[in-house]
Amino acid sequence: RVTVLGFIGLGSMGSAMAPHLLAAGHKVVAFDPSAAAVDAFRAGGGDVAASAADLSAQADIVFLSLPTPAIVQEVARQVIPGKPRIVVDLSTTGPRASISVAQELGAAGIGFVDAPVSGGRAGALGAKLALMVACPLAIWNEVQPLLALFGKTFHVGEGAGQAQTMKLVNNMLSVVALAATSEGMAMGVKAGLDPAVMLDVLNASSGRNSATTDKMPRAVLPGSFDFGFATQLSLKDMKLCLDEAEAAGVPMIVGPAARAMLNITQASYGPDSDFTSMAKVVEQWAGV
Ligand code: NAD
Repeated sequence: RVTVLGFIGLGSMGSAMAPHLLAAGHKVVAFDPSAAAVDAFRAGGGDVAASAADLSAQADIVFLSLPTPAIVQEVARQVIPGKPRIVVDLSTTGPRASISVAQELGAAGIGFVDAPVSGGRAGALGAKLALMVACPLAIWNEVQPLLALFGKTFHVGEGAGQAQTMKLVNNMLSVVALAATSEGMAMGVKAGLDPAVMLDVLNASSGRNSATTDKMPRAVLPGSFDFGFATQLSLKDMKLCLDEAEAAGVPMIVGPAARAMLNITQASYGPDSDFTSMAKVVEQWAGV
C-alpha cells in the first residue's frame, strides 16, 4: 500500500515543513492541538487526525516538530501503540532525550531518526533548511528522500543523539552571534552609523555571521522582531547545550554570557517574544 506519512506539531516550523510532503504527492495526516493550525493544514489539502494516537494508527512514518524534550517524550509514548515503522524527530531536544526516545521506540520495534533542523521558519517555507540526521544507514536510505524535501541533509552518525549534539553546537553559535552583533550594531548606531550600511560592510567583511546576513536585516532593522523563534525555545536550546558541555567537561565562557542575555530578553519581553528582541534590550542599555 501507499506509505502514509504523519506529521505531529504544526507550529512555526511544522506548518512550514508538512506542506512540502503534500506538494511532493505524499499522503499526509497531521495532528496539532491548535485548531487554527490543523484548519490551515486541511485547507492546504492535508488530512487531519483527532490525536497523536489516532494519527499513528494510520501512518507508516511519523514526523515530530514539537517544542520541548518533555513534549517529544510524551508524544513518542502516544504513538507507540499505533506501531508506525519509523518516527522522525525534527525537534531540538538534546542528546539525552533523543537517546531515551530511541530506546523506548526501539523496544516497541519502531525505528527512530534524530533529525533536528536549522534555518528558521523562512528556511522551512523555502525548503532551504539544514537537516542534521543520525540514524542507522538502512533507515537513512529510506528517509533521506523525504527529508530532502525540507532542504539539505547531512548524515552525521548512526546513534540517536549525535545530530542533537550537532544542533546544540549550531544554536549556541547562532545565539552568541546574535548577542555580539546586537552589541556591535548598538555601538555603531550610537556613533551615528546607518545600520543598513553597517550590515552591508559587515557582510563583505570578517564580522559576517547569521545575525548580520539574516536576523538583523529581516527581523531587527524593520522593527518587526518576527524571525519566528521564541525566546523560551532559544533558552531551552542554550540550557541543553551548556548542560551537555558541562557534563562532557568542555569549558564554555562565551555561551553562558549569551544565555544571560536571552534570560534578560525573556524577562523584558516574555517567553513568547521573538529571540531577536535581544537587540532591543541592548539598544535600551546603550540609549540608542
Ligand atoms: P512552536 O511552539 O511554534 O510549535 C510547536 C507546535 O507543537 C505547536 O503548534 C503546538 O500546538 C504543538 N504541540 C504542543 N504540544 C503538543 C502535543 N502534546 N501534541 C501535539 N502537538 C503539540 O515551535 P517551533 O518554533 O515550530 O519549533 C518546533 C521545534 O523545532 C522546537 O524543538 C524548536 O526548538 C525547533 N526549531 C525551531 C526553529 C525556529 O526557528 N522556530 C528552528 C529550528 C528548530
